[in-house]
Amino acid sequence: MPKKNKIFVTQPTLPDLKELIPYLEDIWQSKRLTNNGKYHQLFEKKLAEYLNVKYVSLFTNGTLALVTALQTLRITGEVITTPFSFVATANSLIWNNLKPVFVDIEPVYCNIDPEKMEAAITQQTTAILAVHVYGNPCNVKRIQEIADTYGLKVIYDAAHTFNNKLNGTSILNYGDLSILSFHATKPFNTMEGGAIISHDEKTKKRIDYLKNFGFADEVTVMAPGINSKMNEMQAALGLLQLKHYEEYIAKRKAISDLYRKELNSVKGIEMIPEHEGVSNYNYPYFPVLVDEKMYGKTRDKLYEDLKNKGIYGRRYFYPLISQFSTYRGLNSSKAENLPTAEQITKRVICLPIYPDLDNNNQSQIINLIKQFAL
Ligand SMILES: *Cc1c(COP(=O)(O)O)cnc(C)c1O
Repeated sequence: MPKKNKIFVTQPTLPDLKELIPYLEDIWQSKRLTNNGKYHQLFEKKLAEYLNVKYVSLFTNGTLALVTALQTLRITGEVITTPFSFVATANSLIWNNLKPVFVDIEPVYCNIDPEKMEAAITQQTTAILAVHVYGNPCNVKRIQEIADTYGLKVIYDAAHTFNNKLNGTSILNYGDLSILSFHATKPFNTMEGGAIISHDEKTKKRIDYLKNFGFADEVTVMAPGINSKMNEMQAALGLLQLKHYEEYIAKRKAISDLYRKELNSVKGIEMIPEHEGVSNYNYPYFPVLVDEKMYGKTRDKLYEDLKNKGIYGRRYFYPLISQFSTYRGLNSSKAENLPTAEQITKRVICLPIYPDLDNNNQSQIINLIKQFAL
């Protein structure tokens, strides 16, 4: 098999290195490398303005933001969550000694199904940890109603979103807290990075103590906090990425539009519909669902055949979190509890999408998917 020209599911987007150099010179000269430095402060401010949210707390990555969000709200006992996500979602519960209780997903956007939540709530349940999968919002209204009825906190793992809006409002304004990831593979990256979005000053303060060992002042440690601070280089890169974000998204949109147009006629390849009321969508992934009978091939065969041609799609999310060794012993992990997630995880493949994916390469991917069909 020719090895040339491998195409991966994503490729990080970076500004011109020349743009970063003045920032680096300034950081080197200042000797201020971390601990709420100048660029950290500026990036938090600019980001809150850009995203139209009240408070941003920057983190060294999204996973530690998740772990800290749970500590911020003093979550205990059991937490309702989804098996259809990146493993960090549930791992953040284990790191807090919490018990994940998996609830099935709905079949359209693959988000946690609020109609199945109530049956999973017990006396020990204190929170819902939901994920806006592929950047499409969960049923935030219904989730809040359930949370209000049962007195639960709501945390959104919004790692797949960024500036996405629902009916004109940032998706990040829903729930008690939302977390973002700025990992290299996400549409907005600071190499590694993340944030917690909060809605009041007291909570923002608590988050900022917890990410800095628990220091409230020089002599007061309010809790056993962790060190998950973003450094000045990450923050400077974030400021630059913000300037280019809209160009990046316009390119992602063009790629998504072409996939939709060309794959629409391929029998057995289903696409997730565009979500009503969503604007500023960030096109983080391009998932398709393979219908084995209609397409004439399983998802895994399509995945292998593409790989043999140098195209590396990713099966996000396969396996389900509930199938990993840490989780598979839980009652809520049983396949009969998660019928929709069990179906989707066998059918989904994410196709390459990133701003620098060139047109010839994308056409090649599309043509192969057409050729491989029945
Ligand atoms: C990427 C991702 C995370 C983890 O973020 P990191 O910044 O890589 O730690 C958490 N949850 C979801 C759904 C993700 O996609």
